[in-house]
Amino acid sequence: MRQSTFLAPTMRDVPADADAISHQLMLRAGMMRQIASGVYAYMPLAKRAMAKIETIIREELDKIGAQELLLPSLHPAELWQESGRWESMGDELIRLKDRHNRDFALGPTHEEVITMLIKDGIASYKKLPLNVYQIQTKFRDERRPRFGLLRGREFIMKDAYSFHDSAESLDEMYWAMHAAYSRIFTRVGLTFRPVIADSGSMGGKDTHEFMALASVGEDTIVYSDESEYAANLEMAASAAPPSAEVQVYGRLEKKETPNAKTVDDAAAALGLDADDIFKALVVMLDDELTLLILRGNDELNEVKALHELGAKEMRMATEQEVVDAFGASPGSIGPVGVGNVPIYADHRIHSMKTIACGANETGYHYVHVGPGHDYTVTAYKDLRTVREGDPSPDGKGTLRFAEGIEIGQVFKLGTRYSESLDAKYLDSNGKAQPFLMGCYGIGVSRTIAAVIEQHHDEFGVVWPKAVAPFHVHLLALNVKNEEQKQLAESLYQELREASIEVLYDDRPERAGVKFKDSDLMGLPVRVSVGKRAGEGFVEVKVRKTGEQLELPAGELASWLHQFLSE
Ligand code: ATP
Ligand code: MG
Repeated sequence: MRQSTFLAPTMRDVPADADAISHQLMLRAGMMRQIASGVYAYMPLAKRAMAKIETIIREELDKIGAQELLLPSLHPAELWQESGRWESMGDELIRLKDRHNRDFALGPTHEEVITMLIKDGIASYKKLPLNVYQIQTKFRDERRPRFGLLRGREFIMKDAYSFHDSAESLDEMYWAMHAAYSRIFTRVGLTFRPVIADSGSMGGKDTHEFMALASVGEDTIVYSDESEYAANLEMAASAAPPSAEVQVYGRLEKKETPNAKTVDDAAAALGLDADDIFKALVVMLDDELTLLILRGNDELNEVKALHELGAKEMRMATEQEVVDAFGASPGSIGPVGVGNVPIYADHRIHSMKTIACGANETGYHYVHVGPGHDYTVTAYKDLRTVREGDPSPDGKGTLRFAEGIEIGQVFKLGTRYSESLDAKYLDSNGKAQPFLMGCYGIGVSRTIAAVIEQHHDEFGVVWPKAVAPFHVHLLALNVKNEEQKQLAESLYQELREASIEVLYDDRPERAGVKFKDSDLMGLPVRVSVGKRAGEGFVEVKVRKTGEQLELPAGELASWLHQFLSE
């Protein structure tokens, strides 16, 4: 491709709201332009990189037997009403009416459409398992579109859906997709972690998110420095600590803690460390008033607590509800003497050597509290948010935190959609059964941005070879010099004939401008035809390492073939 006619409108001053480096670089390098908030045009450089990511995705999914299809973006409202998501998606679902005043949505994801399609197309278990995928534009009216392609309102996703007649078959496909995703993101050149994620209100189902590590990431991921363990912060588990000996039975003593509203207030009044005091939280768990106790310095992790306690919803009890149930205000609550409210304790409480807690009398706390003696709990659970430096729950290594971008997700849906949309197959006994389903997404456009977040330097993008829009940037440093021009032109022809993808800067610009643009665009190799053209030499520079060498023009193609195959 000749740069003189190539559509890559570079930009000097990027808009102030472009605060992700990938967003800035993509605008500056002429890879994309904003059309509306969260809506972008992909210019040829971006389109070419995306095509390479798509090819990698197709190769890896085809390998495990998935079949590509293409579903519509325009979805009749009835489908979404039937699944219940016409309501639950809220404002994120983009809705419109056709000329007959019928309601439609622009597809944000395709569980509804694919389930209806398979319901009408497949009758027997003999066709199962089935795994279908598409690469297509999705629409979500995100509350905060930002960071360019990282969170758009119109974006490109690969979504796959699988259908099964047994939990084992679904499990097998789930892990086959998990492995395929790992191969895809490795080939794309990303540093990533598959992390245990929250399956939301459909509790108990397996799901992993694939997170590309990057400082711009909106999610905190927690990983072990010595094992494969990794989870989202909201799902990261805490290992139960060994029990400490607490021998204070019969020494319970009430102390005044006037105006203590928080654990820290009580700690100050009692002259104790906050970690020696119970943090007692009164919550409404579904419809039941419940007492949760943690160590004073720990934070309740609501997502984990919902999973651990098998509940759907949780909210903090109101002050009045607390007073009504415990006879004291929220700053003075504890488990001693509580009979009629379930009490769940975080298992890190086991390691407390001294215990103080609210006395259920406003302005008072107990000290020398004896577990099992002065109070009992319904059960010990993992309720707290983990902290960096905690031991990994698998017993191997220490937990570390990192920021990540969710580039993909694999999810066991079970019968969530086949039940609500009444999609059944006939089993071997001729009996109708709802399909077991899995769904699997990759943010294709987000992945490009994630690659740039991980692969850039102060001068521009540093494309990994596998997804670079072109392999080689060929620069004719002075097109007015006939020798240089001729050598560059002949190399351009030669490289193209050798199937090397080359962007040829044949513009009548100064060498300095060309070098700058070349660094910004970040193709893996730069070949400059300059002063030594007369002797038949060119200069080669590897973008990533900065390694530079001079080569006889005749050796260039074979050097490049070698470099590109490494
Ligand atoms: P997020 O939590 O980031 O909003 P999600 O969990 O809602 O994403 P999924 O429904 O799992 O997203 O979609 C599959 C993939 O599509 C995600 O893993 C992500 O890579 C990509 N994706 C989701 N929303 C967007 C968006 N607004 N812009 C770009 N890519 C997106
Ligand atoms: Mg997701």
